[in-house]
Amino acid sequence: MPSTEHRIIEQLGQLIGSASVSSTDPAWDQGNRAVIDLLAGWLSHMGFDTEIQEITPGGNKANLIATRGTGPGGLVLAGHTDTVPFDEGRWQSDPLTLSERDNRLYGLGSTDMKGFFPLALAAAQSFAEVALQQPLILLATADEESSMNGARALAAAGRPRARAAIIGEPTSLVPVRMHKGIMMEAVHIIGRSGHSSNPALGNNALDGMHAVMGDLMNFRTEMAQRYGNPLFEVAHPTLNLGHIHGGDSPNRICGKTALHFDLRMTPGGDNAEVREDIRQRLAVIGQARGLDVELRSLIHDVSPFEEAADSELVQLAEKLTGHSAIAVAFATEAPFLQQLGMQTIVMGPGSIDQAHQPDEFMPLDQVRPCIALLEQFIRHYCL
Ligand SMILES: [Zn+2]
Repeated sequence: MPSTEHRIIEQLGQLIGSASVSSTDPAWDQGNRAVIDLLAGWLSHMGFDTEIQEITPGGNKANLIATRGTGPGGLVLAGHTDTVPFDEGRWQSDPLTLSERDNRLYGLGSTDMKGFFPLALAAAQSFAEVALQQPLILLATADEESSMNGARALAAAGRPRARAAIIGEPTSLVPVRMHKGIMMEAVHIIGRSGHSSNPALGNNALDGMHAVMGDLMNFRTEMAQRYGNPLFEVAHPTLNLGHIHGGDSPNRICGKTALHFDLRMTPGGDNAEVREDIRQRLAVIGQARGLDVELRSLIHDVSPFEEAADSELVQLAEKLTGHSAIAVAFATEAPFLQQLGMQTIVMGPGSIDQAHQPDEFMPLDQVRPCIALLEQFIRHYCL
């Protein structure tokens, strides 16, 4: 094990040193290709067939599918290779240099989630001399933190396929079988401006937005009643009115306004259906007031995720970890992998409390338990 730990620290140092920030802000956005190439090199050295799926022209952003063994079943160990942007001044050490102190490995992405890869590789290495009866697939994706375009490209390509998938996001090795979806939407209202002294000279878009906001708040209450789910800490869907802009002057009738909101749906609800419900409600308000009311999506949405409590993978994970599977407040690539026909859970080393924070770290005491756990899943699904 000492040499294994040595190799893990060596590999994680290289992964952290290969900056791979993804962001919707072009000033921050980088490619992940260096991380993908490192992983592909190590995995091909370990006897995996490696396939790089380029998701931008030139391949600056890419996914890696690395496969050992063949057959209809098998196991996917998956992670994203990108990180969020960072605030260098608030770190105690260089975020792009692995620093080992206090029995922790510090660095950007150490827990979310470059740190998962060396542990997954170590677990795979334990079976290097064994002929696998079903495939073991290491999957590394791009742009999870920004657009989930890596996972979307996989879903579009229909790959990879296996019986089960584990996404190694930081959950302190507790299995996760549920999270909410994410939608971000904008309501644009166009009325008619005019002198404020006579309301009949125009059609006030802000008055219309007031009605829209009231209706969205009613809709929120209805959703909470219909889609409540006690497994979540916030036990219902949320709809947050997050940004509003409109009008230009107190003495002019407001001609134009826009509202941005996000909506996090619980499993059981469907993003497309909810969007259609909202669209219909907005149409009623627009018609009654003679306003042009339009709903536009600000991002490609992420579906809510639920793996059944009685699925083979959840049952096995609960047995091996001794923890009941839980619901979490963050979204992952799980719905995209599940859509490919794989039973899917989220479970990995480190804590989400350290993710997206200065001085992000992976606790060293989770390294061995994580490898041992992954070995048991490989034994179950691939031997
Ligand atoms: Zn993550």
